Amino acid sequence: MVLRPLVILPDSQLRLVSKPVEAVTPAIRTLVEDMFETMYDAPGIGLAAIQIGEPVRVVTIDLSKPAPEGEPPAPKEPQVFINPQVTWSSEELNVYEEGCLSIPEYYEEVERPARIKVRFMDLDGATREIEADGLLATCLQHEIDHLDGVLFIDHLSRLKRERVTKKFAKAAKRSAA
Ligand code: ZN
Repeated sequence: MVLRPLVILPDSQLRLVSKPVEAVTPAIRTLVEDMFETMYDAPGIGLAAIQIGEPVRVVTIDLSKPAPEGEPPAPKEPQVFINPQVTWSSEELNVYEEGCLSIPEYYEEVERPARIKVRFMDLDGATREIEADGLLATCLQHEIDHLDGVLFIDHLSRLKRERVTKKFAKAAKRSAA
């Protein structure tokens, strides 16, 4: 498992449309391991492969809660979604404050369908479908957006989006200088 550098806004890789995975090869398994390593280290609850510079349709999620101070670490609940596709979404909406490992330390409320059905391939190459609600529904939609080059700031008002984009563009210039 290798810790990989995160792709940060305004890196144009974040706007790429990722390619479908044709088969679960050893390279895909290694990619998944690297994604979990990088996601847990950040720490984050979800990651799309493009966020470590790999434009393929792979998403990792772990919504397990960190254990309180002084207690043994909570068991991990890693979930892998290959070629995930939303096949149904509820009319009912839900609002969550979202963040993104590619847009560090920026959080805003986003409204999305409260429940969705997602079809995907698992690590054994089998096609599966789940119904998700709550945080998992939001997290899946956020990560599936990444596979199409869409960021959560695209769901905000133009003013907010321009403000955060400018801020990160300036920071990138400063660190390049
Ligand atoms: Zn994100």
